[in-house]
Amino acid sequence: MPSAPPPPAPSAAPPPTASAPAPAAATPAATAPAALRAATRPALLRVGSRGQAVRDLQRELRRRGQRIVVDGAFGPATKRAVRRIQARFRMTRTGVADAKLLKRLGLRVRLAAAAPARTATPLVAPGRSPYLDAFPVQGDNTYSDDFGAARHQGSHEGTDIMADRGTPLVAVAAGVVERLTRTETGLGGIYVWLQRADGTEYYYAHMNAIADGLQEGQKVAAGQVIGTVGNTGDARYGAPHLHFEIRPAGSSPTNPYSHLVAVDPTARTQARRG
Ligand SMILES: [Zn+2]
Repeated sequence: MPSAPPPPAPSAAPPPTASAPAPAAATPAATAPAALRAATRPALLRVGSRGQAVRDLQRELRRRGQRIVVDGAFGPATKRAVRRIQARFRMTRTGVADAKLLKRLGLRVRLAAAAPARTATPLVAPGRSPYLDAFPVQGDNTYSDDFGAARHQGSHEGTDIMADRGTPLVAVAAGVVERLTRTETGLGGIYVWLQRADGTEYYYAHMNAIADGLQEGQKVAAGQVIGTVGNTGDARYGAPHLHFEIRPAGSSPTNPYSHLVAVDPTARTQARRG
C-alpha cells in the first residue's frame, strides 16, 4: 500500500439535484441528549452550519431566485443570499438564518440537524499540530468537522474548506510534490498531493489552478503557494472549496479538523464570536 500512488479521494458536495429531501420523520433524535440540548437553543443557521436544515434553506433561497448551490454547507455564498433575502424582507441583514427568518420562509425549524459540529471535536493545543505547520487556505474561509460525513461516494475522508474561487492555497508543511494534475481528472479534478519526509501525505482537491512551474518531485516549503481554490472534479456543480486530507504515513486518512483549527489564524476569533 505505501508504494501505490495515492488514489484520488472521494470528496465534495453533491450536485444540486442529487439529494432528495430527507423524510421529515427522521428525528427519533428527540430522545438523544444532543438533540435535547439543541432544542433548548434558538434555531440558527449560519456560516459553518451543515446538514439537511441548511439544504432546505438553500433550496428555498433558490426557489426565491437566489443563485446558490444546494449542498447542505452554509458558506459565504449562502450567507450573501440570506442577507439579500433579509433585505427583501426589511429585516436586519445579519446573514444568519434565525427562527424568525426560517418561519418567514415557510421552513420548519429543525434543530438537531442544524447543530454545528465545530465544538464537537477535542482540539489539539492552539498553534500546534503534528501534521500542519500552516493553514492551507490563505483568505476568508469556513469549514466544519465534516470528516466521516456521508457522501454519495462514501464516507468523507477529509475536511472541506469553503472559500472563494482563486483564494491562494499553500503547502501545510515542508515536503515534495508527490503528484499533481493540471487537467481535470476524476473526482479530485485539478489536485496536488504533497508528501512530507516522514511519509505523511496531504491531498488538495478541486483546485482552480496549480501554481506556475510547480512540478512533481519539487520541494516546497511550508506556506509556499501551490495553487488556488476552485470547484473542479465532482465539485463542479458545487461551491468552490478545498477538499483537504491528511494521510499519516502508512495509515488511512486522519480527521484534519482539529489540526486545521490548531493552525488557523482566525480560529480563536471565530470561537469568540461564537
Ligand atoms: Zn470534501
